[in-house]
Amino acid sequence: MNEMQEYLKKKREEEQKIIRDKMKRIKHKILILSGKGGVGKSTVAANMAVSLALEGKKVGLLDIDIHGPSIPGILNLERQKLESDGETIIPVEMSENLKVMSIGFMLNNEDDALIWRGPMKNQVIKQFLKDVDWGELDFLIIDSPPGTGDEPLSIIQMLEDADGAVVVTTPQNVAISDVRKGISFCRKLNLPVIGVLENMSGFICPKCGEVTDIFKSGGGEKMAKEMDVPFLGKIPIDPQIVEACDSGKPYIKHFSETQTAIAFKQAIGRAKLFND
Ligand code: ADP
Repeated sequence: MNEMQEYLKKKREEEQKIIRDKMKRIKHKILILSGKGGVGKSTVAANMAVSLALEGKKVGLLDIDIHGPSIPGILNLERQKLESDGETIIPVEMSENLKVMSIGFMLNNEDDALIWRGPMKNQVIKQFLKDVDWGELDFLIIDSPPGTGDEPLSIIQMLEDADGAVVVTTPQNVAISDVRKGISFCRKLNLPVIGVLENMSGFICPKCGEVTDIFKSGGGEKMAKEMDVPFLGKIPIDPQIVEACDSGKPYIKHFSETQTAIAFKQAIGRAKLFND
């Protein structure tokens, strides 16, 4: 190894030690994954984080979807700018219990990140863990981009001891075959699968309450059984989720009595995140 390589290796080890020390102050680190886009992964991540914060837990929500950060929009934080004290980056405080960090806060316009390649993305993810002032947290919920690419791989390696992944899918077969890849990916990396969540599973008529299975239903449950991972539940389609997302109101807080919000809370309960 030449001098340069040795220097770089030492630098990487030092950085990893800083990450390790910071992450020791966070009890649980949970990744939200999906095989493909548009299945509601960011919606699940945001609502899970808000729900845990409403339960009094200290929560961080980290959006590492570098090419399409949607967390700032879902939580109406689009105009927030990050502050730094010179050493650390201060995350956006959505409420007393909820700190949010997204690449969206760093971009002047949405197209800025499109040309980023592996090593640059890796650097940003490292900064999110190493330089952000997360403090003491009960949970860090991480919204990964769809698929099994560089970003989830990097963060799983940098975290070293993540608790596991929630894999979000929709009931259609295509989405389900993608999610199998997600589960295999977790297995290869020794990351426990906390469970599979079937989103957009059935539509509850707002007038009569009847459930219509628009995209079939139950595929996620069947697949979870076949792959021997826990099934967390089915979240019905509720047009108010789109409305809540568009207006930046956390759905689970503002529509807490709907069947869909209740299904969300039950799924979070089944994920057994409250054991300590
Ligand atoms: P992903 O992160 O997987 O790309 P999003 O969370 O951005 O997906 O969701 C995609 C779209 O679907 C958003 O407009 C969101 O509001 C909507 N959506 C997600 N889950 C539901 C649901 N259960 N009912 C109705 N709309 C939903």
